[in-house]
Amino acid sequence: MKALKQSTIISNLETAPGAYVLSFPRSFAFVPGQVIGIAMKPDEKPRLYSIASGNQEALVRILYTVKPGGKLTPGLARLQAGDVIYTSEPFGGFICGAEKAVWVATGTGIAPFASMFYSGLSVNKVLIHGNRFASGLYFLDDFLQVMGNRYVPSCTREAVEGIYHGRVLKYLSELEQLDPLVKYYLCGSAEMVVDVRDLLIERGVPFENVVAEIFF
Ligand SMILES: Cc1cc2nc3c(=O)[nH]c(=O)nc-3n(C[C@H](O)[C@H](O)[C@H](O)COP(=O)(O)OP(=O)(O)OC[C@H]3O[C@@H](n4cnc5c(N)ncnc54)[C@H](O)[C@@H]3O)c2cc1C
Repeated sequence: MKALKQSTIISNLETAPGAYVLSFPRSFAFVPGQVIGIAMKPDEKPRLYSIASGNQEALVRILYTVKPGGKLTPGLARLQAGDVIYTSEPFGGFICGAEKAVWVATGTGIAPFASMFYSGLSVNKVLIHGNRFASGLYFLDDFLQVMGNRYVPSCTREAVEGIYHGRVLKYLSELEQLDPLVKYYLCGSAEMVVDVRDLLIERGVPFENVVAEIFF
């Protein structure tokens, strides 16, 4: 990886318990769905984060959760506007164009889809996002406003009106039909990606129509 570049934080706000949105000025072009490396020191090994903002926006946004005992995120969450971080060039191939597709995410796995959404790629898409609590349905208002009933928020640990109660896997398994001709983009935990991939294949979706990114 090339030398990391210094960026000055514009904001680093807690958006839900333990979840933060970090923003800094955009100094590179990227394709929605790509990731960058982030470190707190120039010589540190960066951790990977999906860009969550649109590719024409002036600021890059990163959505992350604090992992207690983690090397980066507890310190990252303490940084404030004016502090610096070190970032890599964007890279990665979790890319979806303008074609019809289904996006499935859990937790911060919503980040690449948020980038695609804010880059104008949500027409023709269905977005299914799950988290434990409704507070973790990041960007819900924006998705609802633009995507209407093509956006399916779900949570497992609380019952909230208008939000599907259960795992994204259960939601998908209850659908009468799963279109085998469209691509399914999955992003989040390894458990969700493997379970949903298996379900899709069992229900007749060809393996090559399942595209996955695992946050590990
Ligand atoms: C392609 C990709 C994209 C990603 N995008 C995002 C994103 O958009 N947002 C996001 O939040 N995350 C994302 N991640 C995950 C991210 O890269 C980090 O792994 C995550 O933020 C944790 O980093 P950390 O340094 O704080 O924790 P780490 O130091 O990696 O630790 C993680 C957890 O493991 C525990 N741990 C560490 N070492 C040990 C050990 N030896 N034994 C037992 N337990 C241990 C820690 O206590 C902690 O709870 C992505 C990952 C990938 C691969």
